[in-house]
This record gives sequence, C-alpha cells and structure tokens, in this order.
Amino acid sequence: MITIAMDGPVGAGKSTVADEVAKRLNILHLDTGAMYRAVGLAVVKAGIDMHDEAAVTALCAAGKAHVDVKYVDGAQQTFVNGEDVTPFIRSQEAGTAASCVSRYAAVRRMLVARQQKLAEEQSMLMDGRDIGTVVLPHAKVKIYLTASAEARARRRMLQLQQKGEDADFEEILKEVNARDYQDMNRQVDPLRCAEDATVVDSSEIDFEQTVAAILRIVEEKYVG
Ligand code: C5P
Repeated sequence: MITIAMDGPVGAGKSTVADEVAKRLNILHLDTGAMYRAVGLAVVKAGIDMHDEAAVTALCAAGKAHVDVKYVDGAQQTFVNGEDVTPFIRSQEAGTAASCVSRYAAVRRMLVARQQKLAEEQSMLMDGRDIGTVVLPHAKVKIYLTASAEARARRRMLQLQQKGEDADFEEILKEVNARDYQDMNRQVDPLRCAEDATVVDSSEIDFEQTVAAILRIVEEKYVG
C-alpha cells in the first residue's frame, strides 16, 4: 500500500501535479477539495444560508449532505446524496460555498472520516489542505507543494488569458493572498505544513520538474 499526503496553498498546481504523480504510480488520486465543493453545492441546493453554521451542521447530521466518490477509468467522480456532481463542482459558486462550509467542524469531521476510510482501503495520493496534519498524520510520504504568491498569481493570469478572459495581475495577486489568509487562519484544521512534510517549491520549476521531484521523494521513502 502506498499512501501519499499532499497539501499546499491555492494555485500551487496541486490538483494537476497530484493527478500526474498518481497516474505514474498507478494509484488513485483523491481530490478532497472536490468533496468540500460537493457539500457546498448540497447546502446551496437545500436552500440553506451557507453562513449559518447551525443549519449546515443540522443538514450534515441529518445525512443530507452525504458525499461519496467513485472512480471510472481512474478518474474521480464525486457524488452528493447519490447525485453525480462532478460536472458542477468547478464552478465559482461551488468554490465559494466550499470555502465557506469548510470552516465548520461538522463538515470537516464528516469528510475527514470518509477520506480516512478511503485511504484504508487502497493505495492513494490524497491532496488538500489538512491531509498531512489531520487526515493522514501517519502517511509515509508527505509533500507540501507551494510557490510564491506572485508565481501562483502569474500562472492563474496565464490560465485566464488562455481562456480569453480578462486578467489583472494585481487583482489576482490580491485574491491569492486573501485565500491564503483564509486557509491558514481558519480555526478548524488550518492549512499548515506538517513538521515531517517535504516542501516542494514550484516557483522556479515547471510542471514536469515538479512531478519528477515528487516522484523522487516517493521513491526515496518507499525504496530507500
Ligand atoms: O482545492 P479546492 O480549491 O478545490 O478546495 C475548495 C475549498 O475547500 C477551499 O476553499 C479549501 O479551503 C477547502 N478545502 C479544505 N480542506 C481540504 C480541501 C479543500 O478546507 N482538505
């Protein structure tokens, strides 16, 4: 069994890098952000105010924000209350709702338990914000993938420009910094680098070099 925990701030390329590393190792990749996004969508769909922690907690306690994942040809599909929400979780709305509900202890307890169960059953690379610190504290490999705020904002700007959208660097940088602050300063399970994690800084290296650096770390831990 191979268990890899990967954390890092927004825009460090975690999802795409994690996807590629998992593919090369022939193991599953669990994108835990997708699960928070799914709960966010369930809250919106239930017509509940996402800022009302008690109401969101009650929804979870009633089993009405039940998240599950399945894999089809190695690709994660995310379900909430039995509905496949994979096509909808990348929306701005889902991201905003996820960001809000991920602050609540009840939501985190529910999803962390599910994530731990999934990792018990199979080899897995899990990415998120609290994987090395809370979800899989005993993972053999822990990676903290980061990059300077400027590098992350530059990449985001290029992505938007490629899609033909307007992109103002200063504005994006402000958003990146705001999201970092929110993730690192929330009361429950804030984003931080686990003491035993290896930091990979992708500011000055490209995608392929980042993937290679992580594969080297995995190999060192598992092969020695
Ligand atoms: O990674 P992604 O942007 O999809 O995550 C969506 C939201 O879920 C983020 O706002 C993040 O703070 C939250 N999240 C979390 N813990 C995780 C994964 C994501 O709080 N393990």
